[in-house]
Amino acid sequence: MQIKKIVIVGGGPAGLMTAYQLLQLEKNARAQNKQVCAFEIHLYDSMPNVGRKFLLAGIGGLNLTHSEPKATFDSRYSNSQNPAQLNGNCPTQVQEWLNDFGAVECRKWAADLGITTFVGSSGRVFPEEMKAAPLLRAWLHELRFPSSGQSVHFHLRHQCVGFNEASMQLEFEHRDTGKVKVQADVIVMAMGGASWPKLGSNGHWQSWLKAENYHVHPLEASNCGFEVKTPWTSFINPKYAGAALKSVALELQFNQIEKFYKKGEFVITPTGIEGSLIYAASAFINQVIRQQGYATVGINLLPDMSYEKVLHALMQNKGSKSFSNHLKSRLGIEGVKAALLFEVLNKEQLKDMPLVAKTIQFLPLVLLKPRPIEEAISSSGGLCLEQLTSDLSAQKNPSLFFAGEMLDWDAPTGGYLLTACLASGVRAANGVFSSFLSAS
Ligand SMILES: Cc1cc2nc3c(=O)[nH]c(=O)nc-3n(C[C@H](O)[C@H](O)[C@H](O)COP(=O)(O)OP(=O)(O)OC[C@H]3O[C@@H](n4cnc5c(N)ncnc54)[C@H](O)[C@@H]3O)c2cc1C
Repeated sequence: MQIKKIVIVGGGPAGLMTAYQLLQLEKNARAQNKQVCAFEIHLYDSMPNVGRKFLLAGIGGLNLTHSEPKATFDSRYSNSQNPAQLNGNCPTQVQEWLNDFGAVECRKWAADLGITTFVGSSGRVFPEEMKAAPLLRAWLHELRFPSSGQSVHFHLRHQCVGFNEASMQLEFEHRDTGKVKVQADVIVMAMGGASWPKLGSNGHWQSWLKAENYHVHPLEASNCGFEVKTPWTSFINPKYAGAALKSVALELQFNQIEKFYKKGEFVITPTGIEGSLIYAASAFINQVIRQQGYATVGINLLPDMSYEKVLHALMQNKGSKSFSNHLKSRLGIEGVKAALLFEVLNKEQLKDMPLVAKTIQFLPLVLLKPRPIEEAISSSGGLCLEQLTSDLSAQKNPSLFFAGEMLDWDAPTGGYLLTACLASGVRAANGVFSSFLSAS
């Protein structure tokens, strides 16, 4: 009996989930006495160990998924064909993966691996230990030493450097053994995007897939910081670089009708701004920059106060106090918040109280470009979904599957990235397995 060789390239959440789901499907099929053709799973990764970016995500507590209602959850997704919209623009294919494996299934999967999750105050879901390592350990244990059935063969330090689709051959480079060609019956590519390339995902696959006539949208920084158009004066940088602006809101008009508005917090960097509020707005900011070369965001320093109240407080007699002390005592604006106000208004303008009140509630920051992709949480763009079947195989090659961040979809932080990576891994595994069932 011929044993089919499945080669998964990439040991991030998407590739590991593909392997995990294949083992689960095989176990279930055998329990139901279904005929399945024999297969082996070989997982290759360029790094000395797998799941590096997943472990890094654990430093921030590992936001696995989100507890909001499914329709809202799904509305967070977009891609280059369906740009982000406030009322949602989830690509059909992504919607399909999420229908099979969404937030509920994500929490169940973690629970099956012995990891309890909890819902944080913002609705985000985290493992109780707020770490990725215990979950990754349990996951890998299941792949290496499953309670029944076969285990996954890991090939680490194997950098995939080329791919010949017609012969289903991959070429890997290993530090000690040099180049090695690997023949596969089924290939699942799960090589990630291009953020944090030192953790293994460098987007080099773009050129091989283009050479095989696949349409790839350029990988761009997403969930990233931005650079301000006019560099900070010495007043802000270095003194306030790293300072956090809490309980503020960000507003951005990103098309003629829609306005992004969200409360949150962000951080001043030497060249601009970054942090959770900026990441949440990044798809919209990037859209505006692409259209007009820059984007003006308005920061509301006091989002819970009306303009009238802010103006009323400013108009009170300040006596012998300096204007800084007046701002601090009447409105609680001090430190980096006051510094930003002084950055955008000159001395003359600071005497005009209606203007100061207006600026406190819409402090304009002109953003020129995203920070380099190497620093971004994720990348947008990637392999176009239109070339794939609903089970994530290539339309022109039913033995070639894809999963994870290398596909053209995008989402903000909040657990949406990991959920979709895992969901696409499940989808690809289901596709591979169903072809084996019908082939047996
Ligand atoms: C700082 C940070 C924090 C984050 N926090 C969160 C969070 O809390 N919640 C959330 O939802 N998301 C988070 N993310 C995003 C999330 O980690 C990624 O979206 C996810 O890891 C992508 O999974 P993936 O399997 O598609 O790709 P990756 O995790 O990038 O894995 C791809 C794998 O493929 C391997 N590879 C790539 N090219 C080759 C090659 N040529 N040959 C062999 N192997 C190759 C890489 O070594 C890597 O192991 C965070 C990201 C960062 C950078």
